[in-house]
Amino acid sequence: MSWFKRWRRARVLKQAAFDPELWARTVARYPFTQALSADERERLRELVILFLHEKAVHGAGGMKVRDDVRLAVAAQACVLILNLGLDYYRGWVEVIVYPDEFVAEYDYMDEAGVLHHVEEPMSGESWSRGPVIISWADVEEAGSGGGYNVVIHEFAHKLDMLNGEPNGYPPLHAGMHRSAWSAAFTRAYEHFCREVDGGAETPIDDYAAESPAEFFAVISEAFFEAPLTLGETYPDVYAQLVQFYRQDPAARLTGQAAGRETAAIT
Ligand SMILES: [Zn+2]
Repeated sequence: MSWFKRWRRARVLKQAAFDPELWARTVARYPFTQALSADERERLRELVILFLHEKAVHGAGGMKVRDDVRLAVAAQACVLILNLGLDYYRGWVEVIVYPDEFVAEYDYMDEAGVLHHVEEPMSGESWSRGPVIISWADVEEAGSGGGYNVVIHEFAHKLDMLNGEPNGYPPLHAGMHRSAWSAAFTRAYEHFCREVDGGAETPIDDYAAESPAEFFAVISEAFFEAPLTLGETYPDVYAQLVQFYRQDPAARLTGQAAGRETAAIT
C-alpha cells in the first residue's frame, strides 16, 4: 500500500464514528462475528469504517437504508476480507439493498438459437465491476444456523470475479497450488451434484449444484456460517478455504467450546 493510501486510511479511521452500541449489537447478531477474538473484532471494525467510506450503500424499491442496515451489510462483507484487506473489493463502489426479493430481467439465447427473456425473483446478485444487490429480507435470515447467508454469498462472487468471469476459481495466494484447489473443488462439486441428483438431503444448500461459481459462493457461506459441517463434509475444500480466506472459523468455534469446558470444570 502506498504511503498516501495509508495516510488517507488512517485519517478516515480517525474521523469516522458510528454508534458503539449499534456496532456491539451487530457483532453479537451473527455467530461468525461473535466468535472473533477481541483483536479480530477491532480489525473488523476498522475495515467496516473504511468499507463504508469507500462504498455507497443505497436503498431501492422503497428500502430505507438505516445505520443498522449499513453496518449489518458491511460487517458481514468485511468478514470475508478480514485477513485479505479492502483492496480485494476494488473496482466497484455500490451496494444496493431491496426490502425483499427483487426481479432480475435478462435475455439469453438457447442452444437452438432462440432468444428468451427471463424475469426471475432474486435474493442477491453481483455484477462484475458493478454493484452488489441484495434483499434485506434475506439478509435478516443470516446467522440462524442454517448456513444461509446472502451477503457472504454475493461478496464471495465478488472475490471470484477478481480474475475474470465467476467460475469458482478466485485468485490464489502465493504458496497455494492451483492443482490442489482444482482437485479439492472438482471432487467435492462432482460428489455434491451426484448427491443432489440422487435426491439426497445435503447439509449444504443444493443451489450449490448450479455451477462451480455457485458452489464456491455457497461453500463460502457454509465456511463462515457452518464451518464444522463443511469441515466434516468436504475437509479438502475446507482446508483450501482456510488458506484462501486466511482464517479458520471452525478452530474459533472448537477453541471456544474447549474454553467453555475448562471454565465449567474450574
Ligand atoms: Zn450466486
